[in-house]
Amino acid sequence: MKPAKKSKIKLPTAPKDLLADLVLANKILFGLNVVDAFGHISVRHPNDPSKYLMSRHLPPGMVTPKDIALFDLESTPLTHSDKPQYSERFIHGEIYKLRPEVMSVIHCHARPLIPFANAKGAKLRPMFHMCGFLGCGVPVFEIRKAGGNTDMLIRTPQLGKALADTLGDKNVVLMRGHGATMIGISIPEVVFRAVYSMENAAIQMQAHLLGDRGEVEFLNAEESELSARGRNVPRAWSLWKHQFGKA
Ligand SMILES: [Zn+2]
Repeated sequence: MKPAKKSKIKLPTAPKDLLADLVLANKILFGLNVVDAFGHISVRHPNDPSKYLMSRHLPPGMVTPKDIALFDLESTPLTHSDKPQYSERFIHGEIYKLRPEVMSVIHCHARPLIPFANAKGAKLRPMFHMCGFLGCGVPVFEIRKAGGNTDMLIRTPQLGKALADTLGDKNVVLMRGHGATMIGISIPEVVFRAVYSMENAAIQMQAHLLGDRGEVEFLNAEESELSARGRNVPRAWSLWKHQFGKA
């Protein structure tokens, strides 16, 4: 009698172009100082919305196509499971669960964003036409409310869900004492939002130093809406592809 064949779950394969874009996005984020040795970007699987793709535990600047692992929305690795994974992967799985339209997520510790996460009463608001996506509001996640005193990292599904709940229907959430997380409907869009959130924070800080009693004029709701229609994303992505694609 023949031995029964080992059952093997068939995992969805990812398009090569998407893997290439995910690797490129890692390089762009590192090249533009959005991430350093830490931080990560994921993309929802285009053929199976209950899965997402993200590098195994590596500094973003070192990621290659063979390092991209597949995860379910519980953030359990379905490939590369013999290798260490990012401890904060739950950020990604829990946001994909809560926001079905979201196709890509970035988590970073970009320094210019942190003052706006920590300073009481400070609000990150759209300074210029590249940042209309901030006009709907930027909530701040307070991990103490969700988990008491911690090492500040999103190490559990419960903390991931609390973060996703704070993000709500917005595009960016700041994380007190830690960093930020942003979402998009594509890899280029979320990379754009990460880069320009950081730029916005830097120039907003300068404006507060210059303005009369620190007062600053921001884009209003309609200006934000009109300038956030995504026309800037393809041009920025093509430049970054040219700049970092061969690195
Ligand atoms: Zn982090």
